[in-house]
Amino acid sequence: MPRASYQTKLFLSAFSAAVLALAVAGVLLAGAARRQTDARIEATLIAEARLAAELLSRDAVRLSPNGGGGPELDAEADRIGGLLGARITLIAADGRVLGDSSEAADAVRQMENHASRPEVVEAREGGIGRSRRASTTLGVDMLYVATAVRHPAIAFVRVALPLSDLRQQAWIVLTATVAALIFALAGAAASALVLAGRMGQRVRAIAAVAEKYRQGDLTPPRLDYGDDELGVVARVLDESVQELGSRLADLARDRGRMAAILAGMVEGVVVVDPQGRLQLVNEAARGMLRIGDSAIGRHYIETIRHPAIADLVAAALSGRVSDSMELAPPRDAGRTLMARAAPTGAADVHGVVVVLHDITELRRADQIRRDFVANVSHELRTPLTAIRGYVEALSEGDADPEETRNFLAIIARHTHRMERLVRDLLRLARLDARQETLEPAWCDVRGIAQAVANDLGPTLAVRRQGIAIEVGPGAESVRADAAKLHDVLRNLIANASTYAPEESTISITARRTADEVEIVVLDEGPGIPEEDLPRVFERFYRVDKSRTRDPGGTGLGLAIVRHLVELHGGSVAVANRPEGGARFVIVLPRDGAAGTPRRR
Ligand code: ADP
Repeated sequence: MPRASYQTKLFLSAFSAAVLALAVAGVLLAGAARRQTDARIEATLIAEARLAAELLSRDAVRLSPNGGGGPELDAEADRIGGLLGARITLIAADGRVLGDSSEAADAVRQMENHASRPEVVEAREGGIGRSRRASTTLGVDMLYVATAVRHPAIAFVRVALPLSDLRQQAWIVLTATVAALIFALAGAAASALVLAGRMGQRVRAIAAVAEKYRQGDLTPPRLDYGDDELGVVARVLDESVQELGSRLADLARDRGRMAAILAGMVEGVVVVDPQGRLQLVNEAARGMLRIGDSAIGRHYIETIRHPAIADLVAAALSGRVSDSMELAPPRDAGRTLMARAAPTGAADVHGVVVVLHDITELRRADQIRRDFVANVSHELRTPLTAIRGYVEALSEGDADPEETRNFLAIIARHTHRMERLVRDLLRLARLDARQETLEPAWCDVRGIAQAVANDLGPTLAVRRQGIAIEVGPGAESVRADAAKLHDVLRNLIANASTYAPEESTISITARRTADEVEIVVLDEGPGIPEEDLPRVFERFYRVDKSRTRDPGGTGLGLAIVRHLVELHGGSVAVANRPEGGARFVIVLPRDGAAGTPRRR
């Protein structure tokens, strides 16, 4: 069964209230009207009885005084009865009936003695008597009023009216009341309908707004709620919803901002609630601790499988603020994380926020810096020690001219080496600081390789080494910084010349791949031990660690090569040839995707 609508309920309650009120009013009214009619009829009967008594006492002289109950008295009863339109009974003091308007004179004599009739008894005592009962003479319900008469024969006159007359009067009153009630009810129903309709409409409009709010649309409605209590309630609720909505929007904005900040942070953030369940783990923390999405809502002991962090969280949960600690992330011993945990929220019930910094790079950079300083000092000390030794030997003044020349040549060589070292260091510093900008142009690959060969001509000639240049189709030109490409090739070819044996050939080949140009420098030397291959591009890295057997290099050449190639957006790699010798491969984007180094 469908539930009755508010409008129906309102209508039914208003209508039933009206029905109840009208019914009560009707009953009361009908009762009152009936009582009043009764009273009025009774009063009329009393008045009529008195009138009859008066008439009889006036006519007493004219009427037979013998009191025998002759036909005159009955005729008198008939006359008065006719005048008053009621039954008149004339009763002697001893109760005999002397005349009756409803009976013939003969029948009157047969009538029962009326001395004990209640109205007669009452009239005898108080001058007037009333009774409502069935008439033994006529056999119908009657209302009797008897009054004493000042008359020689007649002691009481009694007026009677059939109750059916009375009931008829009451019936008229009742029908009129019922008719009025029906009209009133129809009116009440109509006004209840209109009122319920109007209220129902307002309630439906308010319900529609509430439904719209429930679905999340908080745009304020253009609705006049009205000034009554319903309107006030609706307006207050509406204002509360709007207020709440704007707070929710603020919250959502803050949340969004927070989420964006957390997502964009390189630091890992983990938030644990007071019960120890993970509430939030940002992207960085997921990566560092290798936690999946499913960890949210689970206990930190199950999810953060790192004893040190678990201890940190436990300490913070119990309200202790511990120092930050360094640790290696799970399954990644090469990295270093710094973790700090702090309680969040109120003093007694609080969660914990853990912040993780990946300080691997920092540590590595620190290590590199320290190694670098150590390397530089070391590299400089060797030539400086040598120079000081020879300068001291020279200053003693006992060297012959031949020795002096020798010493000076050694000093010059070391000075030269230091000079190169400082020059390379400065260049690396410039490259690190990105102070060397690229000036790309279409370069002739063969031309540059040839220029390098010419530059190194004297060295190559001394070692009787040859150079073979081969440029494949499409690889003739590449968009690059010519001077830097020259430096790259010069470094590689100089190395090849240094490490390859005399009378060998150094080959330079260029070929075109999809969008790149690949330049390969091959030599016929010993190649590079496999374990050193990944490290030869590091600063100061040398395969032969003994700097005493110095082939003249600074250990910075390949580092510069890698820097320059990457500055072009290219890459450089080294491998050993199966038949012996090192094979350096430079790959450059053909039309120069400069400025986006592939690897730093
Ligand atoms: P260096 O100035 O010492 O040559 P580089 O950075 O140019 O420094 O080279 C680093 C190391 O790589 C060299 O010390 C050498 O041991 C090795 N190396 C470079 N090129 C070759 C090559 N063509 N053949 C063999 N070893 C090489």
